[in-house]
Amino acid sequence: MRALLLYRLDLADDVPVDDAVHVVDATAPLIRATDLGVNRGDGVFETAVVRHGAAQSLEAHLERLGRSARLMELPPPRLELWRAAVLRAAAAVSAPGVLHDGELASIKFVMTRGDEFDGGEPTGWVLGFAGGDPRALRRAGIRVVVLDRGYRHDVMRTAPWLLQGAKSLAYAVNQAALREAVRRAADDVIFVSSDGLVLEGPRSTLIARLGGKLITPPAELGVLPGTTQADIFAGLSDVPSETRAITLRELADADALWLCSSTRGAVPVREVDGLGRPMDHTLTERMNAVLDARRG
Ligand code: PLP
Repeated sequence: MRALLLYRLDLADDVPVDDAVHVVDATAPLIRATDLGVNRGDGVFETAVVRHGAAQSLEAHLERLGRSARLMELPPPRLELWRAAVLRAAAAVSAPGVLHDGELASIKFVMTRGDEFDGGEPTGWVLGFAGGDPRALRRAGIRVVVLDRGYRHDVMRTAPWLLQGAKSLAYAVNQAALREAVRRAADDVIFVSSDGLVLEGPRSTLIARLGGKLITPPAELGVLPGTTQADIFAGLSDVPSETRAITLRELADADALWLCSSTRGAVPVREVDGLGRPMDHTLTERMNAVLDARRG
């Protein structure tokens, strides 16, 4: 991955949008050592992929940024400012010559609770970066392992302070789960609740096909509402779909599985816990055609 551009945002309410976005050196330090985002993972973020000069599904990402901020009792993000900054970044990384062959640009936007010592405004920035082209992965599929997330399916209601379902900066657990997958000769993870309901990946939404229907677990189980999954369900209007709980038994019985995310699109699962699984390449291609065609 390669940093392409960086904007520092001034998040004080009274600064006009046009004056609040500051272009800074993408490779220079930006965060103070006392920022709660780095010290405590106390902040929220989004990552949108850029195609056709636009950040895809931007409104859904902005809405989810607001939702995560609400769950974490952060000040509500000024969406008109974040929208303007991300649109500007998406246009800049789409200029001719910025990307090398085989690269795909994304925009990550981050809001932390601000400085631990000074209090004051949240800290905000927008990073444009180049990542790899996901096409090979979409064809080859991925091997996953099923890992216990350690929380019951009702954790959002019974223990909201655990912040399940918020896209917080605290991804160290997700990273550790991905390392565990590699130790088990896999590429990715499907988390399950401690009482046996299927959840999501550490950085993706699960879709399972059961009885001809595409099914994804509901946000109430403490998973992120996926922008990619939502656009797949909306775009494939001829394929029945449903949002409901999926049991481990159903995961074993599903005739196809995908992990979906903004940067990779829909990636089929080819192995679960070492057992080969069928992949539907035709439907995978249709899903990704819907995703790649989005112009905002
Ligand atoms: N679930 C988790 C935990 C994630 O981190 C992500 C994306 O990073 C997703 C789901 C997929 O979300 P989206 O499709 O909006 O990228």
